Amino acid sequence: MTLSEIKRILAEGGIQPAKSLGQHFLHDANQVRRILEAAELDSKDRVLEIGPGLGALTEGLAARAGRVLAIEKDDRLFAWLEDHFAGAKNLSLRHGDALEVLQHEPIDWTGWKLVSNLPYSVTSSILLQLSASSNCPRRMVIALQLEVVQRLLAAPGDFDYGVLTLLIQLRYRVNRVFRITARCFFPEPKVDSAVLVLERREEALLSERLAVVFARIVRRSFSQRRKIMLKLLKEDWPGEQLIGAFDRLGLPYQVRAEAVSLDQFVSLTRMLPILRIQPSPDNPATK
Ligand code: SAM
Repeated sequence: MTLSEIKRILAEGGIQPAKSLGQHFLHDANQVRRILEAAELDSKDRVLEIGPGLGALTEGLAARAGRVLAIEKDDRLFAWLEDHFAGAKNLSLRHGDALEVLQHEPIDWTGWKLVSNLPYSVTSSILLQLSASSNCPRRMVIALQLEVVQRLLAAPGDFDYGVLTLLIQLRYRVNRVFRITARCFFPEPKVDSAVLVLERREEALLSERLAVVFARIVRRSFSQRRKIMLKLLKEDWPGEQLIGAFDRLGLPYQVRAEAVSLDQFVSLTRMLPILRIQPSPDNPATK
């Protein structure tokens, strides 16, 4: 979809792009093609798209994949999409907040791919929600603003290393693919974006049950970034068990969470006994 087409459709519908919904429409055909190629689609694929907008990606997804489910929150865009894609038999358009759909209508996404230019305000919540269970999509090809990209790719010691990094990297190998400059979107966002490909790990690093404990350890450890991790974890685990686990892992007692690697968090999770963690009704693995 070209820039002039986007402007025309918005003008005809009297639609002002809503900042609160992260509406930045992709109008660079070259970038659309690169995203579709990174998704490596064929007719057996089922694809989830969150925020189809004016269908920049949706058209190519429906042409290549066996089935596409696209969830759009904006009433005006949804009405336009229904009209525009009326003949697309393998496309299901869903009107609603993707976060609510994901939370309240659990679907086994194991065989699915997520291909989306995600709305900025809900990017982290959507990624956390989707990766909270082992039924997460096998591949995610996502355009994201650079700030989130840095968090997903961060390594120990990096400023952006934290809860999002670890909860996503537990399930996925994260690869940066290419950058998209802000000029490729209308209206232009303040920062550039990049496309990442997240490949679900073939062998889960932890069982479902332990993944919940891992999330608890990680969240607690980063709850006060500058504090010593051992002290923070004492809120949840007895000191002597923590000391034993730290000794076996060779972790200094003074270490802060920002210096602890994914592998070390995984090992620590295996060493600490499972507590009676109260799951949140909304998002059992991430609270
Ligand atoms: N896919 C289109 C493109 O690439 O041009 C639009 C991408 S735009 C960055 C994000 C889209 O997500 C918008 O269409 C916006 O209305 C929609 N959106 C925002 N929040 C949403 C939510 N919670 N659930 C579903 N869609 C949402």
